[in-house]
Amino acid sequence: MNQKAVTISPSQLIRFLDQELKELPDNRKGDNKKYTVNHALKAGFSAFFTQSPSFLQHQRLMKPKKGKDNAQSLFGLEAIPCDNQIRKLLDPIRASTVFGAFKTTYKWLETNQIIKQFKYLDNQILIALNGTEYYSSKKINCPHCNCRKHRNGSVTYYHQAVTPVIVSPSKKQVILKDTASHINFPPEFIKKQDGRRKQDCENAAVKRWLSSNIIEEAKEEITLLRDDLYSRQPICKLALEQGYNFIFVAKPSSHQTLYE
Ligand SMILES: [Zn+2]
Repeated sequence: MNQKAVTISPSQLIRFLDQELKELPDNRKGDNKKYTVNHALKAGFSAFFTQSPSFLQHQRLMKPKKGKDNAQSLFGLEAIPCDNQIRKLLDPIRASTVFGAFKTTYKWLETNQIIKQFKYLDNQILIALNGTEYYSSKKINCPHCNCRKHRNGSVTYYHQAVTPVIVSPSKKQVILKDTASHINFPPEFIKKQDGRRKQDCENAAVKRWLSSNIIEEAKEEITLLRDDLYSRQPICKLALEQGYNFIFVAKPSSHQTLYE
């Protein structure tokens, strides 16, 4: 089938992000406020959007090239704050502040018939759940960090998240976020929960995600995909109770009775 590619532009995404950024806390003292929190958030977004491996490379990319200023033309930013400024401004902001932007983006994709193109296997939306690590350090850590203890006695602190991603075998692109159009499905962070000493793990995180994302009046059929990590009775049971279908890999080594 020959489908016309519809793409969502960075400036459109910035507009969606903007709608969520009305009253951001700004705890800075003094008058040196060249950049606003809103500005820093958009700059942070542009760093991820361009998939730059570092802030330094991002800075270079945003600089004017052949008379064209990428920061301005792609993201509507007058100037890009440096990484320290971005971190300082964004650290106090909760990630959930911008979760609404996932929903608006999904709505846009739905209205523009893009979600429809992703449907597969009797009109199913396929959601791949995946644990992904987005922070790691041997030094810098916070009370929510999980940690890995190494043989040489050193410790790596890290943060991960379960990210629900819409995938389709016929598409090169993936869509991060939402499953049913009437619910908003943000990522679930894998982090030590408040007041807990125990490490968090992906299985516990996906259970939290399933518990808080029930499909009540399913307008859409959703099939969850994951490797052998989730093919355990408690997760399968919870997925069905919450209204999902699932395809989880079951390895012979972890499902001996089933294979017999
Ligand atoms: Zn941490």
